[in-house]
Amino acid sequence: MSGEKTGAEVFIKDKELAWIPARLLDMTADKATVSVPSYGDELDIEMGGRGASKWADATVNLKDYAEFGKQLPLQNNKILDDMVDLPYLHEAAILFNVKARLKDALPYTRTGDIVIAVNPYTWLTHLYAEDQQLLYANRLVWEKHDQDPRKLVPPHVYEVSALCYRGLAVDGRNQSILVSGESGAGKTETVKIAMNHMASLQRGPVKATGEAYSSPVVKRIVDSNPILEAFGNAKTRRNDNSSRFGKYINLQFARQAPQPGEVDICNLAGSKCNVYLLEKTRIVGHDEVEGAYHIFYQILNSPDDIKAGLNPCLKGSKCEDYKYVGKLNFVRKIDGMSDAENFEHLTNSLGLVGVSGESYQTMFSAIVSVLILGNMSFQDKGGDDEKSEVKSTDVCKQASDLLGIPMEVLELSFTERTMKTRNEEYKVPLKHPIAKEGCDSFAKEIYARSFLWLVREINSATSAEENYEGGGQSDFGIIGLLDIFGFESFPVNGFEQLCINYCNEKLQQKFTKDIFQSVQEEYKYEGIDLDDIKFDDNSDVLDLIEGRGGLLAMLNEECVRPSGNDGAFVSKAVSGNKKSKCLLADMRMGPLEFGIHHYAGKVMYNAGGFVGRNTDSLPVDLKKCALASTNDILANHLENDAMTKTESKAAAAPPPASGKGAPRRGKSNLVSDTVWTKFKTQLNSLMAGLALTSSRYIRCLKPNKFKKALKMQHLTTIEQLRCAGVVAAVTISRSAFPNKLDHVGCLERFRMMREAGAKEIEDPVEALNDLLDPVLKGREEDGKKAYVPGKTKVYFRAGALEFLENERAKHL
Ligand code: ADP
Ligand code: MG
Repeated sequence: MSGEKTGAEVFIKDKELAWIPARLLDMTADKATVSVPSYGDELDIEMGGRGASKWADATVNLKDYAEFGKQLPLQNNKILDDMVDLPYLHEAAILFNVKARLKDALPYTRTGDIVIAVNPYTWLTHLYAEDQQLLYANRLVWEKHDQDPRKLVPPHVYEVSALCYRGLAVDGRNQSILVSGESGAGKTETVKIAMNHMASLQRGPVKATGEAYSSPVVKRIVDSNPILEAFGNAKTRRNDNSSRFGKYINLQFARQAPQPGEVDICNLAGSKCNVYLLEKTRIVGHDEVEGAYHIFYQILNSPDDIKAGLNPCLKGSKCEDYKYVGKLNFVRKIDGMSDAENFEHLTNSLGLVGVSGESYQTMFSAIVSVLILGNMSFQDKGGDDEKSEVKSTDVCKQASDLLGIPMEVLELSFTERTMKTRNEEYKVPLKHPIAKEGCDSFAKEIYARSFLWLVREINSATSAEENYEGGGQSDFGIIGLLDIFGFESFPVNGFEQLCINYCNEKLQQKFTKDIFQSVQEEYKYEGIDLDDIKFDDNSDVLDLIEGRGGLLAMLNEECVRPSGNDGAFVSKAVSGNKKSKCLLADMRMGPLEFGIHHYAGKVMYNAGGFVGRNTDSLPVDLKKCALASTNDILANHLENDAMTKTESKAAAAPPPASGKGAPRRGKSNLVSDTVWTKFKTQLNSLMAGLALTSSRYIRCLKPNKFKKALKMQHLTTIEQLRCAGVVAAVTISRSAFPNKLDHVGCLERFRMMREAGAKEIEDPVEALNDLLDPVLKGREEDGKKAYVPGKTKVYFRAGALEFLENERAKHL
């Protein structure tokens, strides 16, 4: 903290609170004494009420500050809309800015083009009222401005939705909004808020009417949301209504031919969504304090006549009657609605997208059969061979009835496995735990297929191609909304986390490129050379994961090797990637452990079950069994995740005889693409789609783990700011020139440094040179001037603005 004066306000580093503001009392070469203002309330939530008195006076070891290399002065206590305007850049300043804003019920903050959305955990009605919707619509979409129009409005999700709409309607370019954040950070809510706003924008420039906007297409799109939530959301530790799948919604807009003299308006014509990586393990069980998918509770907590209507076997049944669901350990109410009410609502929503009558029954037969399969039990048959049989014959009968598969076929499919060699086919009997495992896989497959079927039904009912009557238009303008799981790092991380973090690396790569590009554009506009912007890119992590000989390739190899196993995967992956700096092999604790240094931090993975998870294919016998079912959803192959009915017919054409589509031989005879390979393909097509759009980013933050309104915990927030790349984004945009001021602001602030009576200069750049040259002379580095005037702003290299401020202080 050299150079900091006694009495100065600084941030000090703290183990539990990351950073706290303090006043410097005394300082020697290696120690400083500081006083810390009382923090009562905030310390309480962070430290379980240990109280603030501990912090009254403290001695700080100055070596701790090496990380930043210099003092961390407090800002001028001003709350800023845009983090890029922070006079000093460090994470403490960023943290305290979002914290101060949240306290004032301002959950949104800008970092350049990125919007940071802190979950307020309380509905701030005024922020989403009609007048706010109109303010952003009028300012950002319909009015014309010379300057950046965002300066005219506070940061908001509405600014992103409005600018996207404008980008599409006025500039004619497809758009996307990428929403990220950890579970419970508010992604899904944010997407809903943006969607509703965009849907309202097609009214054009209007005045408040006091009436909520509604159109039948919008209604259907908005109503389809709870359907996916019922089947794809569950209560987790972190979020009572957590989406357990990734989602990319394409809103499709039709361009209206503009009337002469009128604004060009785009109408919302439909939507199509794609889903990614539904959490399958949750279908067959869950942690005690978490829940199964909502739909099961909605069914089981409905009145008896409703249940009986779905299937007679449900009459009089309760949650604890079903092993996959289990006893309820918590009160179930989401947004104040009971399960039974939600189920009624769901049935209505399903009706709106055309799932009623026969298809409704078919789908619920599939879903109820999942519950029933969970209660199947097996036992060894006794005798010499290792054969097992169904113990719960009643349950098996119910499943057989529901699925329309003869009981004998069902039983044999669980207890035997068909093996194939080149010349013959034979059956191998299965022991009871293996039979049960097969039964669980079958249940997972049924549920996952039903989910994909639903997505397809929804798409058919909402896609513009099939529903918009705007004159057969086929090229719709797109605004895509990505609501996908954020970076995850738990005490133990498995296959799901690896897939999720892989996805986040991909998105991070795009994010960095986009930020870099926007800085490039700014400099180009300002007419400034851009020779020394440096940024970390994460291509080495992606190489390790998806490159040749990388983790994905190695795991796939193990999945086709007859004796492939998790341990062999880890040892091959480690020995094959010794050169990679991102693979953490020295830290190995056990034979199944390995680590990856992700952009957001180091994560240790346990590879237990990787081979099985990645293969995740149903044994051939059960596949055949599903095909024989009278239930349409089971019997139909769903090759591609989210398409409309018409598209899937085209895709059902036979695959090419060679190349990618040809089946490969392997472990279970029929090894199709692995889970990870499929995900990679999906991800690549998502990235390719996104590349055709202008992307905007919303980074959601979960401020505290108690879901407490308007409170912020330091450590977890800092962690998320790092994961979200917020610090990195500010760093990139300030790497060459950490500070900038606009021409007028700069001239005014430092005018007193000019000699009295010096003559006024009209041209701002000349005036700046005249003002700054004499003061900053001698501060050139490598022959580069300490400041560069651009077209509208003047840019300062590291230290130059601080130096100017010190000089200015001398003139006061
Ligand atoms: P994620 O999708 O990131 O897991 P959600 O969007 O489901 O998180 O949000 C979790 C919970 O946080 C919501 O159920 C809601 O209670 C609260 N929440 C999120 N965003 C907001 C908001 N803008 N205003 C008020 N509460 C919110
Ligand atoms: Mg969600």
